[in-house]
Amino acid sequence: MEKQLSIEKENSLLNNKLIYDITQFTHLDYPDHLACIFWFSSCNMQCDFCYNKDIVYAKGGNFSMYYALEFLKTRVGLLDGVVLSGGEASSYNLKEFCLKIKELGFLIKLDTNGTNYEKIKELVQCNLVDFIALDYKAPHYKFTQITKSNKFSEFSQTLNLLIKSDIAYEVRTTLHPDLLTYKDINNIIEDLVQRGYTNSYFLQEFLETQNIGNIKQSTQKFQYNLLSNRLKVEYRYNTPHS
Ligand code: SF4
Repeated sequence: MEKQLSIEKENSLLNNKLIYDITQFTHLDYPDHLACIFWFSSCNMQCDFCYNKDIVYAKGGNFSMYYALEFLKTRVGLLDGVVLSGGEASSYNLKEFCLKIKELGFLIKLDTNGTNYEKIKELVQCNLVDFIALDYKAPHYKFTQITKSNKFSEFSQTLNLLIKSDIAYEVRTTLHPDLLTYKDINNIIEDLVQRGYTNSYFLQEFLETQNIGNIKQSTQKFQYNLLSNRLKVEYRYNTPHS
């Protein structure tokens, strides 16, 4: 009976329309892999620079995880990876979904703001994700101002978890000179160094599009020359999640 209930629960989760959209092919979002992207609806943050406004404010999605799995079956041998993004994919219980994706032979990348610590921990401990891109939105003293959430401590737990684990991951920050100064970025770099982070740290340039805070391209220049050299910093254009 208990087993039957758990199968029904799993099926109902897989049948819920939680996915807002599907990008059928990308070679940019999962480094060195051909992948598709599942964009999960809604988010527990409202970052000023976020240009996924429709997804963040969506009350539901257009596709179920079951539909996404059926789509993936048609991509076996054509793609090798799946990106779980959003919105905030880790708001949902992704365990069964990831298990089924892995059964089909795909690698999984999770884009996350890191604030659903327990769910991310379970995915990492069960080896259900292969790569995590973790957004370090802002130093603790600006975190709520920029994200409209008070979840720095949950993010912090996730960061520590990734640093201590064997999983491949990266930490990245979206850079808008009106929101974050070189002192803020140096504060993040110092925090990462103190925690034992040794990978490259990625800075993503803000690109002006429609966004949650209705913010424009800055007229100020970011002072790259004043950045700390305590970590290797790499630059890239903004990714859809951030
Ligand atoms: S940038 Fe990411 S974490 Fe922030 S509101 Fe948008 S989807 Fe959510």
